[in-house]
Amino acid sequence: MMEAIQYAETIVSKAQWFISGATGIAIVVAAFVTWYILGPPPSIRFSMLSFVSVLIIACPCALGLATPTAVAVGVGRGAESGILIRNAEALEIAGRLTTIIFDKTGTITTGQPAVIDVIPAPGYTEDEVLALAASCEKSSEHPIGKAIVKAAEERGLRLDTPNEFKAIPGGGVRARLDNREVLIGGVKLMADHGIMVGELNQAAEEIRATGKTVVFVSTHSQGENTRALGLIAVADTIKPGANAAVDRLKSLKLEVLMVTGDNWRTAEAVAREAGIDLVMAEVLPDQKASKVAELQSYGKIVAMVGDGINDAPALVQADLGIAMGAGTDVAMESADITLVGSDLNSVPSAIELSRATIRNIKQNLFLAFIYNTLGIPIAAGALYPALGLLLNPMIASVAMTISSLSVVANALRLRWQPGYCKTDSPTFSPKS
Ligand code: ADP
Ligand code: MG
Repeated sequence: MMEAIQYAETIVSKAQWFISGATGIAIVVAAFVTWYILGPPPSIRFSMLSFVSVLIIACPCALGLATPTAVAVGVGRGAESGILIRNAEALEIAGRLTTIIFDKTGTITTGQPAVIDVIPAPGYTEDEVLALAASCEKSSEHPIGKAIVKAAEERGLRLDTPNEFKAIPGGGVRARLDNREVLIGGVKLMADHGIMVGELNQAAEEIRATGKTVVFVSTHSQGENTRALGLIAVADTIKPGANAAVDRLKSLKLEVLMVTGDNWRTAEAVAREAGIDLVMAEVLPDQKASKVAELQSYGKIVAMVGDGINDAPALVQADLGIAMGAGTDVAMESADITLVGSDLNSVPSAIELSRATIRNIKQNLFLAFIYNTLGIPIAAGALYPALGLLLNPMIASVAMTISSLSVVANALRLRWQPGYCKTDSPTFSPKS
């Protein structure tokens, strides 16, 4: 359908040359000459009339209005409901999507996780584990890191400052505190560093099955074995409108997926709760874009919805990047559609609006074409021999005005197109 707009635009630009150019002149001249030779006397009056009428009708102004008016009204309507569409191309792609991928953290979930449990390994206390982790996460920008720091502060724990800090994207954190090397992150990070989580594994599995994220804390100091000191369970709540939004997308015949760097068990539990059947988990931030590309290689037209925290490349890779407004600036930079507020229901709304706009463009093109294709032969006097009907130039110009007006009026109908501005789900709800 992207071809549709390009096609329409080519038609319009070609039509301007074509109709009012070569063909137009040919018809005009043919009408003039024919009626001059064959017309009833005074034949010059006759030929002049059809000459002028054809010239008026052949002007493709309604055709030129068809696409831009619909796009302008559609984009304007979107903006009113917090759906900011970058350009006509974005509208057009949104209208023919097959697949939509949601990022988990910050998109499906609120992105404001909280620590709900700390389980120490034998020989350690909850506070020891939490204080060590929080000290290392102090300068972390990841929501999980911030949640850990907040939990420690709430418990009034004393935090140290690490000598070294390094965030491992999609993995966790590595820090140096006193003489100890500390690693905080998922089970994969632990495995990569040869750390056994031992008896903590059982508890971790149970936590993940409920959709919560598990991070392990481990230390390693000189002359000592590396070991896990405990685990921290972090819960991020699903956004209230997530389920309804996913249902609406499914009823729009779209394939809905979720992608995350989190563990498979956790990801599946969150996806199930949101009503999403297809999950891609344990995907490193820089692999999210290649997951999008993989789906595209199957011929799917893919939209990626994210907040820009570690998913900006995927937003760019996708045919359509949709940024949730509560996210980062980089997301809005890379996105084709930006949704103001964090309500997921704006996603199906944006797609419904795009589809309605594309339908409207097609109707407009039909309206514009029908006037020209019917008008030109009549103006040229095709009906004169049989019905004695010849188009008066005045009527021809009224017809052309009506044709432009009907295109504009049809485009304006988009303002009242229902279904994408649900008053019960405020798309404008500010970031809380
Ligand atoms: P998502 O794709 O859901 O946004 P990320 O790619 O940011 O997730 O993170 C993936 C996983 O890496 C997390 O689930 C967590 O296990 C681990 N992780 C990332 N950053 C941190 C951190 N600062 N502290 C602890 N664990 C982290
Ligand atoms: Mg994210």
